[in-house]
Amino acid sequence: MQTIKAAVCREFNTPLVIEEVQIAPPGMGEVEVTLDAVAICHSDITYASGAWGGFLPAVYGHEAAGVISAVGEAASDFKVGDSVVVTLIRACGSCPSCAGGKPTICETPYDTVKGPLRTADGGPLDQAMACGAFAEKVVVNHRQIVRIPDTMAKDVASLLSCGVITGVGAAVNAAQLRPGQDVVVIGAGGVGLNAIQGARIAGARRIVAVDMTEEKLEIAREFGATHGVLATLDAPWKASYKALGGRGADAVLITVGAIPAYDQAPRYLGRGGRAVMIGMPHSGAQASYEPVILAAIGQGLIGSKMGDVVIQRDIPWMIDLYEQGRLKLDELISGRWSLEQINEAIADTKTGSAKRNVIVFDRGAVAG
Ligand SMILES: [Zn+2]
Ligand SMILES: [Zn+2]
Repeated sequence: MQTIKAAVCREFNTPLVIEEVQIAPPGMGEVEVTLDAVAICHSDITYASGAWGGFLPAVYGHEAAGVISAVGEAASDFKVGDSVVVTLIRACGSCPSCAGGKPTICETPYDTVKGPLRTADGGPLDQAMACGAFAEKVVVNHRQIVRIPDTMAKDVASLLSCGVITGVGAAVNAAQLRPGQDVVVIGAGGVGLNAIQGARIAGARRIVAVDMTEEKLEIAREFGATHGVLATLDAPWKASYKALGGRGADAVLITVGAIPAYDQAPRYLGRGGRAVMIGMPHSGAQASYEPVILAAIGQGLIGSKMGDVVIQRDIPWMIDLYEQGRLKLDELISGRWSLEQINEAIADTKTGSAKRNVIVFDRGAVAG
């Protein structure tokens, strides 16, 4: 066991506590990654609020990038010194979902409370989302990581771990957009802006962004939205039809967890359209829809976890897009904070005006 610093959730809805915790060395198939950056995602905030339950104490954080500092047995071909991004997609590689090309819905359970983390006095500590990345180091399965160029800035790379793959993947993998199709993206936040980029990359004809403020719609345009609609309108879908030349969209991507967004989403669709559910409402929340319409005009509802990505295939592709200037990443970062400032960074994220806040670790002269 090694002692590291982490931001620990001891009680839901209270500030995280910076404390020393213990981390086990990497076991079979695992690697230890010393982190340079971890972004704050709304999922971390939702967990810390208690809305999804879960074991406490816990270490959240799951959008991370760093450098491998130790390698367990049979950890693929990774080696100490490799730059990597760390994701929460802990896939076994051999269950029916993994074998069928859907590792984001791996069926093999993994007990995060029995994972590598312990409190300073040896008590249980949840490695939330199989990452526990609000910490100086993580120990994760080699299937959760992807090698990145050493030259790529880690704060930028960390965004690839969740928000970017979820948004771009929802457009490309889940909605399976074809060039020329019309898309509505509800929510222009961390995931929504990436869904907009994904729709642009997929060759969408028109991309309508829907959000609560003109400011967010303006940012959406910078990421590729061709039109903006205020969600505060009485019937915002009517403004969307107008933007789309009088028709409903081929796909609506719901990137926020708000139930009104879920209730309204099918209204934006045209014949044969599909609503892709990406944003995560609180456990127990219910949405309603009118089955007769879905049946009569061939519409569909699809759930998408983590953009249905295969990280080993999709993250290298997205790095190329970034290097070619076709995927915006730098522009997604709205602030950089230290681990000690994590509660301020979370508060700033909760205001809704931030894009992504990133915790950066000052490793000083630490080698590798
Ligand atoms: Zn996330
Ligand atoms: Zn699996």
